[in-house]
Amino acid sequence: RGAHEGILRRQSARESAARTYARALPIVPVRARGMTIEGADGQRYLDCLSGAGTLALGHNHPVVLEAIRNVLDSGAPLHVLDLATPVKDAFTTELFRTLPPALADHARIQFCGPAGTDAVEAALKLTRTATGREGLLAFTGAYHGMTAGALEASGGARDVRVARLPYPQDYRCPFGIGGPNGAELAARWTENLLDDTKSGVPAPAAMILEPVQGEGGVLPAPDAWLRRMRDITAARGIPLIADEVQTGVGRTGAFWAVEHSGIVPDVLVLSKAIGGSLPLAVVVYRDDLDVWPPGAHAGTFRGNQLAMAAGAATLAHVRENRLAERAATLGARMLGGLRSLAADHACVGDVRGLGLMLGVELVDPESPQPASRTPHLGHATAPSASTSQTPSTSYAPPAPAQPAPAPPTTAPAVTTPTAPPASAQYPHQ
Ligand code: PMP
Repeated sequence: RGAHEGILRRQSARESAARTYARALPIVPVRARGMTIEGADGQRYLDCLSGAGTLALGHNHPVVLEAIRNVLDSGAPLHVLDLATPVKDAFTTELFRTLPPALADHARIQFCGPAGTDAVEAALKLTRTATGREGLLAFTGAYHGMTAGALEASGGARDVRVARLPYPQDYRCPFGIGGPNGAELAARWTENLLDDTKSGVPAPAAMILEPVQGEGGVLPAPDAWLRRMRDITAARGIPLIADEVQTGVGRTGAFWAVEHSGIVPDVLVLSKAIGGSLPLAVVVYRDDLDVWPPGAHAGTFRGNQLAMAAGAATLAHVRENRLAERAATLGARMLGGLRSLAADHACVGDVRGLGLMLGVELVDPESPQPASRTPHLGHATAPSASTSQTPSTSYAPPAPAQPAPAPPTTAPAVTTPTAPPASAQYPHQ
């Protein structure tokens, strides 16, 4: 107990306050297995943070530990810049096994490092180099990382090079409609922006999207909308970047979330779970985008052997044990349970997600704006008539927190991005 309090006190005295929201939890983890963390205070906690989507197999899975031990025991060098090694070869081979064949058959891979935001930067730089263009199409509520280019592509950012497009969603639909019609309006908005000569939007270098927005509030994009984005970009020669940093490795009920819609992106950005809980990031891209000469993209920490070994073991374990299918089954069960809970609690505005990537939106029942504090779920409170909401996609969407964008017949100028929806204001991990 004393050690626990001492560590917390010293850390909060010395560490910057610019830390993640998870740090507000007074927990000092000392051991972990599966989804259980043991704290220095002797308490056991269920870890629902899951390394922000990194722990596809939970903490310290035996296959991951064994893979790491094998590297350590083999005497292999731990640091070799990005030279080819047996460990790297095994990781790359396993990664290609899991990729959608239509991409894998014509793909190149670039190790970035060490975090998701580095892979996003690489994808932006690559598409800008390959197209010779600067502009970027990105979406409200998006989160792509904390480095300059990735930030620029993220929801709340304002940058002259970024055209901010509406991301479809039911509960806080930017057009107040939700469902397929809301998604169709969002798609038309994008089409008009690119086609309307008056919008003055120069041809962009790329479109970047998350198949399910994670930090934006767990928002799965409808398959039909994703296919429209693929068609719109393909028809105009705009590379499509799918950011699967958070959605990858089985979590959504498919190995990669793009498989649900069947779209084949030109660039796939991967990190988090591909390193089996250690830092690893890669971009996979169509080989004709491979315009970089040697040395055009470097970085000291792109050859993390332990992460590659842990990642290869994770990818193989998920593939061989069909854990994506298991996530789909368990996710459907959990979504059903959460919907029952939502029916009894007015503070639950919405439940949604794909596979086991699920979100519960807590609201202030009176508004219903996002809850300003964590409500108590201990007692079921029947929603009053005025705030009653049914726990299905037939939810009456609440009025958007921000003014709705102008109708999609009027394309926004590239320098005046759409106001982000309330979901874009969520704290980022
Ligand atoms: N893209 C997405 C979709 C993410 O969710 C995140 C992290 N939450 C990132 C990029 C950035 O990854 P990292 O924090 O490893 O830089």
